[in-house]
Amino acid sequence: MKQTGLVIGGGLSGLFCAGFLALLGYRVELFEAAPRLAPVVRGFWRDGWYFDTGFHYTSGLGEGGILARVFRFLGIADALQVVRLNPQGFDGVRFKDGEEFLFPAEVSELRRGLAERFPADAEGIGAFFNQIDRVCNGLPMLKLKPRSVPDAEVENAWRCSLQTVINKHIRDPRLGRLLSLHCLLHGVAPEHVPFAVHAGVAGLYYRGAHTLRGGGERLVEVLRATLLSLGVNVHCNAQVTAIKLRADRSIDGVCLQDGREFVGRHCIATLHPHALPGLLPDKALRPIYIRRLRSLQSSGSACCLFGYPKRAIPQLEGRNLYLEFDSANGQAPIYLTRGSGEAHSGVIAICPEVETDWNIPDYRERKRQRLVEIQQAIECHSPNLARDICWVDGGTPKTFQRYANAPVAGLYGAAHCLDQVNPQPRTRVEGLFLAGQAVVAPGLLGTALSAFWACQEMCGDQRLREGLMTCQ
Ligand SMILES: Cc1cc2nc3c(=O)[nH]c(=O)nc-3n(C[C@H](O)[C@H](O)[C@H](O)COP(=O)(O)OP(=O)(O)OC[C@H]3O[C@@H](n4cnc5c(N)ncnc54)[C@H](O)[C@@H]3O)c2cc1C
Repeated sequence: MKQTGLVIGGGLSGLFCAGFLALLGYRVELFEAAPRLAPVVRGFWRDGWYFDTGFHYTSGLGEGGILARVFRFLGIADALQVVRLNPQGFDGVRFKDGEEFLFPAEVSELRRGLAERFPADAEGIGAFFNQIDRVCNGLPMLKLKPRSVPDAEVENAWRCSLQTVINKHIRDPRLGRLLSLHCLLHGVAPEHVPFAVHAGVAGLYYRGAHTLRGGGERLVEVLRATLLSLGVNVHCNAQVTAIKLRADRSIDGVCLQDGREFVGRHCIATLHPHALPGLLPDKALRPIYIRRLRSLQSSGSACCLFGYPKRAIPQLEGRNLYLEFDSANGQAPIYLTRGSGEAHSGVIAICPEVETDWNIPDYRERKRQRLVEIQQAIECHSPNLARDICWVDGGTPKTFQRYANAPVAGLYGAAHCLDQVNPQPRTRVEGLFLAGQAVVAPGLLGTALSAFWACQEMCGDQRLREGLMTCQ
């Protein structure tokens, strides 16, 4: 008889877990609290424009990339159209004084472009990118392999910050800004993010960035259809309120808010780790582990503007654009994107936000003020660009928190930062595993990797790894 795998949370992590488990022969029950799957990446439509809120671009979709393998293994690759962002510049940066820089999707080209622009730092640029490459190549999580012989450089890269490495190699502050720009992809400031995390995230983007036609909505729909065809039971409006344990403290099943109960000896929780202890009986987890989960810091959050283009915007054709401000005034870069870049793709502007607690009495007024400030910052930085966009709405950290049904705000859930130990996929409760951005890495790639590690641990053999490695 098939074993039952219970998956809590129907975001991307949960969808990937459900697919892997079904292919490994489990009978799968997937529970999502929201009315529809993956509310964060699904995005929304307004007046004929599609706003791809939670997914704009990713690494790992080039030939042989990890996500490309995952898509093939799950049988969704043919239903998705991968779009390569402009290889001459997948991300553009415009400084306030008008200088522009493009990030080409080829590390050697990027190094050359930076060395031409910052000749005095040419040697440091080489050293920085060599280090990014070595650490990125040495990360076991990206090779889908357990850590074997520890690599001293990779181990050190978990203990030092991106800023430390930049300070060591780079003198020009503007170059330093360019090299820390992609912190927006993990939501941790350069002085707090372990160099290993930044190398694993940004290092892969430097090798090529892709998006999907139809954006996050298409990905979710294709995943959903595939899960149904694999026999996964998908339950929406299904908030898990408790994880039941047997007397021997192994998993027995889950209880839903509507009173239904499901039995199963294996469970993967993909929700924010802060929420996990509240689902388990007292003493199921050690107090020190609970403290560790609850003290995990959040990744940075953001306010966001949604608008539509009044005419074609060349700076956002096949690429994204970062507006860089002088560091002196404390304004973080504002990131603009049209996601999958289709005719109906709306413009999204994301502005990192220091204030994450937006549960305040005058929320509506504060939100209005903040969105006006961001709009003005864009107008002041790039008036011509601003004239081409009609802003229609916006969101705050509270908006994203509500969409993710998360206990705290953070674009990428719990952060990966220095001086904190993130949870492993296996927990002390027999049969209970963790997946999600807190476990391995942030973003779409992080959700797929975390699902891989949780399912691999659960099935206890190498079938999943072997299956993925043979998928080209
Ligand atoms: C503005 C923004 C832009 C982004 N841009 C990108 C990008 O360009 N590229 C990229 O790779 N990533 C991007 N991301 C990150 C990406 O969206 C996330 O990696 C991804 O959505 C995380 O999926 P998840 O399943 O781990 O978490 P979530 O999507 O948060 O899923 C967790 C799910 O669990 C459900 N849940 C919670 N509690 C319960 C419960 N008790 N019972 C049942 N269900 C429960 C929630 O409703 C939720 O749907 C962006 C995120 C944001 C917010």
